[in-house]
Amino acid sequence: MRKQENVTSIQALQLWKSIPQQTRDKLVRNVFCGSCGDAVEIVDYSIRQEKRALLLTGKCRSCSGPVARIVSND
Ligand SMILES: [Zn+2]
Repeated sequence: MRKQENVTSIQALQLWKSIPQQTRDKLVRNVFCGSCGDAVEIVDYSIRQEKRALLLTGKCRSCSGPVARIVSND
């Protein structure tokens, strides 16, 4: 099986792009980083579809530690 990490599927990307740009900007700039203990911006992220939500996994802009965010598309 192919490694699923850092793979953005076309379907997940389409769902992500269906979210208004302004909302997406807010989402990527408000990801909790456990190392920083604060809301940070996620960078170098990939998007996966997780049932009815999207999962963003990437790196913290401040400390480069791994961060993730679930985006519910309800
Ligand atoms: Zn951090």
